[in-house]
Amino acid sequence: MNIPFLDLGAAYRELQSEIDAAVARSMASGYYIGGTEVESFEEEFATYCGSTYALGVANGLDALHLALRAMDVGPGDEVIVPSNTYIATWLAVSQCGATPVPVEPDARTYNIDPALIEAAITPRTKVILPVHLYGQPADMDPILVIARKHGLRVLEDGAQAHGARYKGKRLGAHGDAVAWSFYPGKNLGAMGDGGTVTTNDPQIADRIRVLRNYGSRVKYVNEVQGYNSRLDPLQAAILRVKLAKLDEWNARRNAIAQRYQQGLVDTGLTLPHVPEWAEPVWHLYVVQSPQRDALQQALTEHGVGSLIHYPIPPHLQQAYSTAGWAQGAFPLAERMASQVLSLPIGPQMQPDQVGAVMAAAAKVVEVA
Ligand SMILES: *Cc1c(COP(=O)(O)O)cnc(C)c1O
Repeated sequence: MNIPFLDLGAAYRELQSEIDAAVARSMASGYYIGGTEVESFEEEFATYCGSTYALGVANGLDALHLALRAMDVGPGDEVIVPSNTYIATWLAVSQCGATPVPVEPDARTYNIDPALIEAAITPRTKVILPVHLYGQPADMDPILVIARKHGLRVLEDGAQAHGARYKGKRLGAHGDAVAWSFYPGKNLGAMGDGGTVTTNDPQIADRIRVLRNYGSRVKYVNEVQGYNSRLDPLQAAILRVKLAKLDEWNARRNAIAQRYQQGLVDTGLTLPHVPEWAEPVWHLYVVQSPQRDALQQALTEHGVGSLIHYPIPPHLQQAYSTAGWAQGAFPLAERMASQVLSLPIGPQMQPDQVGAVMAAAAKVVEVA
């Protein structure tokens, strides 16, 4: 049995008639930038997240970047980021001319460790930027307490966590704003690029509305040097179909994750830890092994696809070589980069496929 890491074609086939109808409706509308599909999606996503506003933008990186701009982050400022994240989190800070200041994760949850944040705060710090990594919420309450104490804003990177709950409340407005990505492989994925920012803050919402549209509120009147970063109405129409399915699809991911949690317990692999206040949406199911590369190789031989999220931490990327971080600067992030492996998970994955992954993993671990 060949088991792909993720089957996006299967996701389309499940919703094909509804997606095709939405695409046709969008094409026939005569609106190819902005319009009712974008506005309706923004309203529906804000309602889903329990936030006042949702502002559609071109992608997740832009959502992070424009939200930071709306918080007045610029040259000379520092933003606290996780040492273990997808590089987009850091790049958004760098695009503002500001400096990402890495903080190590909690070794069990893989999310930024709130106990280490205060030591990283300086007079230049402006924003704390936690990531809800792999679909599990970061520990928001202590982060918000620290932010309030030091007069900092909080921007959440929700790119991997659409629908996740922290202490019973859905992500969307715990901090000052949340940046979301609709990259096709995310839990809520478009069929191209897309992103949005949710917030309860009218000033942040207003500034993003202007920034995403060439710095313009009134056509051909430009208040600031803005950007062209708009959510495509075709993608918005598709996202509306998929948003209606998000809870059901997240529940299917959760059922697969529960089978893995029980079925892999005797393998010696380090399995994901879920704090009692967290309701993750399992964007990724990530195990750890000191023999990660051999494990991945053997799974491939058994026809099981897997990926590494992520093989090189941002501080060791060539893109950040000028920052001068040495090997060993962030040992937890570096250990994760050498030990993590993401197993197949997705709403269209069949029960026999899940069984086959577990059987292959058990066999492979026995040999290793
Ligand atoms: C996917 C992702 C992004 C960037 O989203 P794009 O839409 O690809 O720009 C940002 N942060 C994290 C944690 C992500 O996983």
